[in-house]
Amino acid sequence: MISTAPYRTPQAARRGSATSERATAIKRGYKARLRRGDLLETIVYFSVAIALALFLADGGATYFINIKDVTTGLGIVTGLIGSDLLLVMLVLAARIPAIDRTFGHDKALALHRKLGKPVLYLILAHMLLLMIGYGIAQGLNPIAEAIDMIANQQDMSIAFIATGLLILVVVTSLVIVRKKLSYEFWYVVHLLSYAAVLLALPHQFTQGMMFADGTWARWYWMALYVGSLAAITIFRVIVPVASSLRHDLRVSEVVVEAPGVVSVTMRGRGLDALRAQGGQFFQWRFWAPNMRLDAHPYSLSAHPDGRSLRITVRDLGKGSGKLLTLKPGTRVSFEGPYGLFTDEARTTNKAVFVGAGIGITPIRALLEASDLAPHEATVILRGSDAEDVYLWQETYDLCVEKSASLRVLVGHRPRGVHTWLSAEAYGQGESLLTLAPKIKESDLYICGPTPWTELVIRDAKRLGLKDHQIHAERFDF
Ligand SMILES: Cc1cc2nc3c(=O)[nH]c(=O)nc-3n(C[C@H](O)[C@H](O)[C@H](O)COP(=O)(O)OP(=O)(O)OC[C@H]3O[C@@H](n4cnc5c(N)ncnc54)[C@H](O)[C@@H]3O)c2cc1C
Repeated sequence: MISTAPYRTPQAARRGSATSERATAIKRGYKARLRRGDLLETIVYFSVAIALALFLADGGATYFINIKDVTTGLGIVTGLIGSDLLLVMLVLAARIPAIDRTFGHDKALALHRKLGKPVLYLILAHMLLLMIGYGIAQGLNPIAEAIDMIANQQDMSIAFIATGLLILVVVTSLVIVRKKLSYEFWYVVHLLSYAAVLLALPHQFTQGMMFADGTWARWYWMALYVGSLAAITIFRVIVPVASSLRHDLRVSEVVVEAPGVVSVTMRGRGLDALRAQGGQFFQWRFWAPNMRLDAHPYSLSAHPDGRSLRITVRDLGKGSGKLLTLKPGTRVSFEGPYGLFTDEARTTNKAVFVGAGIGITPIRALLEASDLAPHEATVILRGSDAEDVYLWQETYDLCVEKSASLRVLVGHRPRGVHTWLSAEAYGQGESLLTLAPKIKESDLYICGPTPWTELVIRDAKRLGLKDHQIHAERFDF
């Protein structure tokens, strides 16, 4: 079934200057984000360059004379760069607002994941090269050298434990392994990466003279660690705890939207101060029996009004299923708001919103938050049946209020065809372009199952949309 909501008559007089002001603000915001992104990237490259400079300043060039010293020299360089990038990884996952608002939380995490294997390879190379290099110097084979290091050299036993922990963290994060683990188990193992960083730290100061007492190199290296660990403690622990206590959020209403789908409204103090926007998500913890140990990410399903926050959740497992039993009055703690799936991320003055199933939640909130001119928004909703188009009436009303075009495609996908469309829409020759004729000059926001989202992105790219025009919220990590 395909239906279209009525268009409102254009209010042309109001549009002119407001639209051009908004277009200028969008351009300015986008350029500022690009500049911030360039600056943050430069800082990362610069930190790697400094790691190399530390090696050279410590007489690094003198290592490149014979095989023993070349091996040792490369071992030191890989250790320095690997440790530097390990801190970059932790900072990317620290949910620092400047990073989140520049790249978006999901892109920061994607980069964090991408760095995982190279960092592990660098650290392993560091360990193996030094076992070989020092081994040659002492006339020992690499294994005997490793045993000697562990037994006789200060802080080396815990450095080896740190490497073991890092291997465990990276292996459990490989997609193929991760799929077999529960989220909670993976999360606890992942916390070991902090232990790995701390255990590896002492040997960096006690082995060799590069970071000897009183050198500027020692101060710089310590500042890197203190800064990174402080950022993690502040943004992942102190800010969420303080914010939860300050806003004293409690469940005020639980509404069943459809079988297995509930909307939970929460009220608290001074919620304006959170500066949350429709489209963003929080990590929520409900202080009800059996729920205290779970924290789950859910997007806002309504743009915050300063007094309340609302989420809409589909029962997809043991954690989300428990929300069906939530009682008003339950205390809620949270981390966030996170994410760049917002109107602020828009780079044009038109938008196409595409949502499937429970993916409607950030789309509905974002539509409510957006200040698009009439006729500049198109909303496309997908569901396997009409019941699967959640928050339908609210979304319809919003489309009418904002004079947005609304297309609803229900039914399963056609067999044997790689498409995100319903069989009916596909059979009628519909496409992203026929459903949203202005798509090429619009921003595209997509939220739905990841493989389905990838198909929408594929079609958008075939139409020539650039990466910066495409915003996808993925409901899995
Ligand atoms: C940014 C974001 C926004 C989301 N917004 C919504 C929303 O508005 N409405 C909604 O219904 N769902 C949303 N989800 C999905 C929701 O978080 C998961 O369905 C829920 O956490 C599943 O947990 P479970 O214990 O019920 O299921 P499980 O059976 O334990 O897990 C099902 C899947 O969810 C993943 N998962 C489990 N726990 C977590 C967790 N704490 N953090 C991240 N992933 C986890 C697992 O890896 C698995 O792939 C969102 C997810 C993300 C990442």
